[in-house]
Amino acid sequence: MSVQVDKDLLDGLIDSEILYQEAPCGYVSLLPDGTIIKLNNTLLTWLSYTSKSLLYKKKFTDLLSKGGKIHFEMFFKPMIGVKGHVKELSYEILKKDGSILPVLLSAKAMKDVSGTVLAINIAVYDITDRKSYEAELLKAKKIAEEEKRTFQFLADLIPEMIWTATANGNIDYVNQRFIQYFNLPEKGFKPSSVLSRIFTEDRKKFIEAWRKSIRIGSDLHIEIRLDNYLGNSEWHLIKAVRYVNEDGVITKWFGSCISTEEHVLALKAKDDFISIASHELKTPITSLKGTLQLMEKMKSSHPDPMMHKLVDRANRNVNKTISLIDDLLNVGRINEGQLYLNKKRSIIFEVINDCCNHIKNETDFDILVKGDPSIEADVDEGRIEQVIINLINNAIKYAPESVIIEVSYEKTGQEIKVSVTDQGPGIPLEKLPHLFERYYQVESNNGGKTGLGLGLYICAEIIKKHNGEMGVESEPGKGSTFWFTLPA
Ligand code: ADP
Repeated sequence: MSVQVDKDLLDGLIDSEILYQEAPCGYVSLLPDGTIIKLNNTLLTWLSYTSKSLLYKKKFTDLLSKGGKIHFEMFFKPMIGVKGHVKELSYEILKKDGSILPVLLSAKAMKDVSGTVLAINIAVYDITDRKSYEAELLKAKKIAEEEKRTFQFLADLIPEMIWTATANGNIDYVNQRFIQYFNLPEKGFKPSSVLSRIFTEDRKKFIEAWRKSIRIGSDLHIEIRLDNYLGNSEWHLIKAVRYVNEDGVITKWFGSCISTEEHVLALKAKDDFISIASHELKTPITSLKGTLQLMEKMKSSHPDPMMHKLVDRANRNVNKTISLIDDLLNVGRINEGQLYLNKKRSIIFEVINDCCNHIKNETDFDILVKGDPSIEADVDEGRIEQVIINLINNAIKYAPESVIIEVSYEKTGQEIKVSVTDQGPGIPLEKLPHLFERYYQVESNNGGKTGLGLGLYICAEIIKKHNGEMGVESEPGKGSTFWFTLPA
């Protein structure tokens, strides 16, 4: 491809006068005393002067601000004299209307053979844009600092402990309450000094959980005891939430330590009361049950059918009461670490079937059992039956619209998974994490059903004792599946 270029245009491109006058930077030449002897159109346009008003009439310093003048005389000129050049020094030149042009000056001295300076050639670069970027950056920095101060002010007002940590988990900010609680120096404490204030027995558990959160990038939620400045340990809920930037990278952790001491003490008082009350109730109820069993045997010889009904009703209610008291006694045993297992090799199908037969006698629900009848595991049959019966009874109680309650089990790898599925109302997502806490009920009055909010807690503890896991999948309107695993 050949392109024809006008000769005049080519000549114009390399015309040194045009190059000098219309260069993208300003040029000015001075005598050694600073008198302006030559300057280009670019600079004249920037400053709005005519060459007539400047050439041989003004010194370059006349165009500089007061501070600039001093710097030019004390620094610029001596440098030029010694080194022969200067590079990118920042000055402000005054335009004709008095406004300021921020510039960078680079200069070279023209010397004779003896080294005497004859003239100075200066290139002038307009840095107005750069200055305004710098000003904007400065402004943005100021705003960011102001926002940080506002955040810290707010954080200091909060009566709970707040902190932040770097992506790799090092604490880099704590609020006033944090400092007060541990009586830390205001500045420059070591994160390890905070770790040492975690109650000894809880420290390992915390470190493991925190490391895991950082490794897999999951939020932290853990209850541990912290030693306050007096050395007393108090229960706290430690939460840390990851902050992810626009590129999806975790850049920070925001954390809080909320005191749960009062809640824990109240729960303990409740546990203590329940433990005493349930032990006291157990004896008279067992004796009442014995009496009713005698009456059950005698009822056939009684002519009044009403008597039969009354004995049946009394028996049903005593059984319900015994089951509630058993739950309460179980909580006591769990709290005291006295839930013992009596394991033996068992066929899972038989364990499940026993539960279903037991329940089927008392209800009209269809219970469908699905799974391989040869699967075996080492379990405490009585305890596992207790778990399955609880899950099926919950389905009957809370999902009465279910046509079928399905109990399925399967073996995958080293694990057996048992699931109980209903087609009931389901459970809202935000309630699911709490279902296995003690005394927790989804509705405050338990939807008018009897219960203490202990069944699932006890089930989960029994499964934990078997080294398994318990969980739930549920969606409002689509039913629930409660499941647990057992080592095969
Ligand atoms: P409770 O003894 O009060 O029945 P649980 O610990 O067995 O307590 O259950 C806790 C809560 O979970 C219940 O209050 C109930 O609201 C809810 N729940 C349990 N099973 C189901 C289910 N299959 N469908 C819907 N909600 C359920």
